[in-house]
Amino acid sequence: MKRRTFLIGSLSGLSVLALSSCVPEAPTPTGTPTPTSTPAPSLVPQPAGMLRSSWSEDPFARGSYSFAAVSSTPQQREDLAEPILDRLFLAGEAVSADAPGTVQGARGSGQRAARALVDLAEPGEQIAVIGAGIAGLAAARQLADDGFTVMVIEARDRLGGRIETVANDSWPIPVELGPSFIVSASTNSLDEELTGLEVSHTEFLPVPEVRTPAGAVTEVSTVGTDAVTEALAWAAEQAQDTALAKALVATGSAELSMTDGDAGVSDADWLDYQLATATTLETGAPTDEMSSWYAPEPATTVADDTRIVLGGYSTLVDDVATDLEVLYSSVVTRIGYTETSVSLRLGTGESLTVDRAIVTVPLGVLQGDVIEFVPALPFAHRGAIAALGMGTLDKVWLRFDEPFWDTEAVLWTTVGDDTLDFRVWVNMMPLTNEPILVGFVSGEHALALAAVDDTAVTDAALRSLEPFAVLATATPAP
Ligand SMILES: Cc1cc2nc3c(=O)[nH]c(=O)nc-3n(C[C@H](O)[C@H](O)[C@H](O)COP(=O)(O)OP(=O)(O)OC[C@H]3O[C@@H](n4cnc5c(N)ncnc54)[C@H](O)[C@@H]3O)c2cc1C
Repeated sequence: MKRRTFLIGSLSGLSVLALSSCVPEAPTPTGTPTPTSTPAPSLVPQPAGMLRSSWSEDPFARGSYSFAAVSSTPQQREDLAEPILDRLFLAGEAVSADAPGTVQGARGSGQRAARALVDLAEPGEQIAVIGAGIAGLAAARQLADDGFTVMVIEARDRLGGRIETVANDSWPIPVELGPSFIVSASTNSLDEELTGLEVSHTEFLPVPEVRTPAGAVTEVSTVGTDAVTEALAWAAEQAQDTALAKALVATGSAELSMTDGDAGVSDADWLDYQLATATTLETGAPTDEMSSWYAPEPATTVADDTRIVLGGYSTLVDDVATDLEVLYSSVVTRIGYTETSVSLRLGTGESLTVDRAIVTVPLGVLQGDVIEFVPALPFAHRGAIAALGMGTLDKVWLRFDEPFWDTEAVLWTTVGDDTLDFRVWVNMMPLTNEPILVGFVSGEHALALAAVDDTAVTDAALRSLEPFAVLATATPAP
């Protein structure tokens, strides 16, 4: 099934019109109506276990990671890092200019804030770090090692924030609801540190297996990457930044053919494929909000320094937090600052005053006005918070009694049905010998699924897996 108007909701009203005009008119029914057929029963078995994230619904994340929204600039991440009255410092993945949206970017920004603070502080000062994600813990670790008295204040009853590893007896391997990958491993030391902590991780260099709704394996066409590349090149020449959706329309993507080729896949399907399995997956952003100036270029080759963590990302968090003082289940609701101190009010009504503070709550929390800053943050900080976007990526982990699929591929993607929510899957079988699949959903599909219950998410996930069950059933193994 295809919506045919797949860019609706992602493109501007203009583009929706343009696309609708490309959809062949449905023939007017004549004669006796045909009886409605009942959908074929699913070929994908019910899983034995399911776990999911819904980061946009999480009050202490309000999204998955930051993205470059239309008219925002990388400089605004630098603006966020500027100390405020030399007392207040912001950190976290959104504050990282070189690696936003990553574990190493968040950690680096926490360490940078700690260094800036140390340069200004007197020995013995009392410091509060708000947020026990990797940015906050990295900052606190450095400050504690430098001899400061540090209190980490965390809203949740656990460490790690968006790093969330679930380890329980129902699952044979640790389940990562946040990050699974070490991105750009050659430029940071995360893999060595995880090795030192005896956390297993391995290279992740898969060539994606692409399947059509009928389950046929097909070669990736360059139509989608070419369309996005052309749109970004056009946008780079414009006087003002535009949404990627508008740039796509301006460069003719709305006129891409919707007529299926031999494999049942059209040119428009290949653009949808590029957006769903790469551009939106990477940013978490809908194309009508994403900057064309700073959108990711379509990758022509798979990065050869990505690693997948199999033994539990949270071990890193626990290690950084060793011996740090953490106040759990404590939501900061007000931050007052002067030239001499910082006062914090908690949701419980308690208050405390410290010499300086590092605030590492996610961008989504800062945008939500959950925390009252008194006085209001400086103009440049507020401008950056409003301008940057918070994207959405969610995961579903499905555990089966045995594999129902017939492929050894590690990375699965689908093309030709834009109504499927989970367009990217990691097959953990070749990596761990466990019949576990991890599905990824991003952008508007993720926002819609975050609001529904586990049964509806499981149904959506199983439907998205149909292309991988078809062949296994059609050609049973000898
Ligand atoms: C689904 C998903 C997949 C990802 N995949 C990858 C990946 O494969 N590789 C990668 O490198 N990165 C990945 N990331 C991004 C990475 O997880 C984040 O960039 C990083 O963990 C952010 O760390 P942080 O410390 O900035 O924020 P957080 O981890 O969010 O920490 C902020 C902390 O502040 C706390 N807090 C919030 N509000 C308050 C309050 N009012 N008072 C007190 N405390 C508060 C929160 O509870 C949280 O603990 C992924 C993220 C998601 C969601």
